[in-house]
Formats: sequence, C-alpha cells, structure tokens
Amino acid sequence: IDKDIATPKKTKAILDKYGFSFKKSLGQNFLIDTNVLKRIVAAANVSQSTGVIEIGPGIGALTEQLAKEAKRVVAFEIDQRLLPILKETLSAYEHTKIIHQDVLKADVQKVIKDEFEENEELAVVANLPYYVTTPILMKLLEEKLPVRTIVVMIQKEVAERIAAKPNSKNYGSLSIAAQYYADAETVFTVPKTVFVPQPNVDSAILRLSIREKPPITVKDEAFFFEIIRASFAQRRKTILNNLAHHFSTLSKQTIEEILQSINIDPRRRGEALSMEEFGVLSDNLLKKFR
Ligand code: SAM
Repeated sequence: IDKDIATPKKTKAILDKYGFSFKKSLGQNFLIDTNVLKRIVAAANVSQSTGVIEIGPGIGALTEQLAKEAKRVVAFEIDQRLLPILKETLSAYEHTKIIHQDVLKADVQKVIKDEFEENEELAVVANLPYYVTTPILMKLLEEKLPVRTIVVMIQKEVAERIAAKPNSKNYGSLSIAAQYYADAETVFTVPKTVFVPQPNVDSAILRLSIREKPPITVKDEAFFFEIIRASFAQRRKTILNNLAHHFSTLSKQTIEEILQSINIDPRRRGEALSMEEFGVLSDNLLKKFR
C-alpha cells in the first residue's frame, strides 16, 4: 500500500474521511508533494541518530518523511481536530509523538529533556504556520535550545529578510537577530502549487545552523537588540535620527558624539551597519544608562 500521505489523492481521502475543513487563522496549508518533503528532510541532514522536533504536523505529511529517517520525532500541534487523524496516519511510526499544544506557550526545553536523551543530536524541522513564523523562530533561537539546526519552510520574503546581508534591501533587525544566533541561508524555493489550499505567497526553505556562541560579544544582549530595533524603526531615517527618537532622555548631540567616537557616520542608515558595529554602538550607548 501507498504509505505516503503527501500525494494530492491520499491527502484528499484523509481530509474527506474526517470531514476536515482548513482553518486559515491557523496557517493550515498542507504539503502534497513527497519530493519537496524529502528535500526538506535532506536539508536538515536527518539521520538515524537525529532527534527531531516538528511544529505543526497537520495530517502528518512531513512527520512521516521525518520518521522514515530520524531516530525519533516529537511534534507540537495546536489544532485538536488533527489529533485523531494523526493517530491514524502515523500509526506505523511508533517513534513519533504528538504534543497537543501551542508551541509559543510550550516549555520546549522541558519537552527536550523529557523526550530525548541527554546530548542527543537534535534538529527542528517544520513547515511553519506563516502567521506566526517570526515569533516561533525568535522563541526557538532566544531560548538557546540544544539543537544543531533549524530547517523551516516559511514565506519566501521572510526567509530572504532573515538571511540578508548588510547594505541589501532585505537587511533589517530580523536579519541581525537571527544571525546573532545562527548562520542563515535559503536552501531552495517552493511554488504555491505544492500545497492545499494554495497560500497567497511563495515559500522557501530556510536553514539556520546554530552557532556555538554569538559572532560578537556584547555587554547587554537585551540592550543590543533594543538598539537594533530602534535603528530600523524608520528605514529611511539616519541612524542618528532613529536613535534620538528612541532615546528621548539623551540629547541628539550626545548621541552624535558617541557615534563619531566609534567612527560611525551619524548620517548612515541602519541598513548599512554591520552586526559588529551595532555591538560597539550598543556597548558605548549603554554607558549613558549605567
Ligand atoms: N506539517 C504539515 C505539512 O507540511 O503539510 C502542516 C503545515 S501547516 C503550514 C501548519 C500547521 O501548524 C497546521 O497543522 C496548524 O494547525 C499548526 N499550527 C498553527 N499554529 C500553531 C501553533 N501556535 N503551535 C503549534 N502548531 C500550530
């Protein structure tokens, strides 16, 4: 029998059997192309020694392909209606487990402790719900989970923003935030046609290879990220004007002097500054508050 869930015919049969109707509000676009799924699994280098955490298994299309290659798969699914379906579609794969929870509210560290062995090689692999891509990715990165890679299907534009380098139109606070924790690259792009229902946007596979330690050292991480967000608050404004607007307790002249003292032209825009420059800027501005 044909075990692959991700064919148009099999997917339709499963959805019909359970009378399942898609919830747009949960970002439910299911993959119906086994070849794309296999390429996602390969992009994450999943092997028999890999423990995988999945977010949003849907009816199990990706879970199944992961289960074929991985040691164990643990998936978070928010939609209760999918639980009985997953029970059936994944019945042949005993080393899979579904946790019925909103991943944004989940204690992922604890789940990792409970579900996997100590020091196990771990990967996050998911076709993410697009309405919460950024919060999910930032949660996974900021919590410093013991995973070596995060491979996710997301909206193409968001993948490009995350992987962007300085001086490009997509470079922004999200690029720096993600690249502080990981090396980011777009692996391949995917057309709308491989989903039911088809989303309005094109998609891409993003690979985040987690760094052992950040590429720069800053005195206060929270302040560093605050500076970055402030610097991109209005993209067309200079770094000086954005910072002066954000730090209303400091005079514009004070900020200008700090920028000049570290050789950053106050007329530059945030998009022209490297992560290293933001690091130096953050440590120097911090002195005015401590
Ligand atoms: N993995 C399946 C596939 O590739 O066909 C489904 C992917 S679909 C884009 C996203 C899935 O994430 C849906 O099953 C949806 O119910 C689930 N989901 C949405 N928000 C979630 C959340 N906050 N936590 C966990 N799962 C969520």
